[in-house]
Amino acid sequence: CGIVGYVGAADAPSQRPLEVVLEGLRRLEYRGYDSAGVALVAPGAERVASRKKAGKLANLVEAISLDPLPDATAAIGHTRWATHGGPTDANAHPHLADGGRLAVIHNGIVENFAILRDELLADGVQFHSETDTEVAGHLLAKAYRETGDLASAIRDTARRLEGTFTLLAVHADEPSTVVGARHDSPLVVGLGDGENFLGSDVAAFVSHTREALELGQDEVVTITPDAVVVTDFAGRVVEPKRYTVDWDASS
Ligand code: GLU
Repeated sequence: CGIVGYVGAADAPSQRPLEVVLEGLRRLEYRGYDSAGVALVAPGAERVASRKKAGKLANLVEAISLDPLPDATAAIGHTRWATHGGPTDANAHPHLADGGRLAVIHNGIVENFAILRDELLADGVQFHSETDTEVAGHLLAKAYRETGDLASAIRDTARRLEGTFTLLAVHADEPSTVVGARHDSPLVVGLGDGENFLGSDVAAFVSHTREALELGQDEVVTITPDAVVVTDFAGRVVEPKRYTVDWDASS
């Protein structure tokens, strides 16, 4: 339901990615949700660090304070409004794949998830949730193993999904990158100084920057601390529209 992504501080992992993402989720709370979760990556870490909890954001914050998350360079966060699979901890996003090296969050519905799940099960993939979303994580992991390129992997995945989606992903091998894709579901980019943001809504980052990029239908975005690259699902580079957010962020 709500989506936040952050990348920054390439040489100096810190708590900032987690703080930015939790604050963004708080600002997206008005949309309603039943679960929340975050995933972080940092240089040298073999796996993604992640926590997710059914219920209010306060449950997630408490889980993190009981079992703190490491410093990081990039993070993604999600508030879920369940469509497939009940509102449990296991069904909350992020969903991990590739032995915990990749994490994905998703807004929307993957209509063809049953076919994709059968295909992945036949391939020997193990599932850990009842969501429609989890297929996207495993497809992404498979494409990443084949190409070694996250943006091209998310393009491959986006082309296979039917339904509506905003997808974000991080991989432990690329601790300064967050990738995203959108189809019939919103995703906006916030431009910072040595850091960049993604959100399902500008509310996710407007307290940090008013400079934004609008993504079009069927586009993929890669953010790193100093660059934003946008392509269509075929990989052709797109020049996104830049604008300044007109919004009272004091609320
Ligand atoms: N369909 C996904 C799920 O049920 C995502 C729901 C959402 O947009 O929050 O987990």
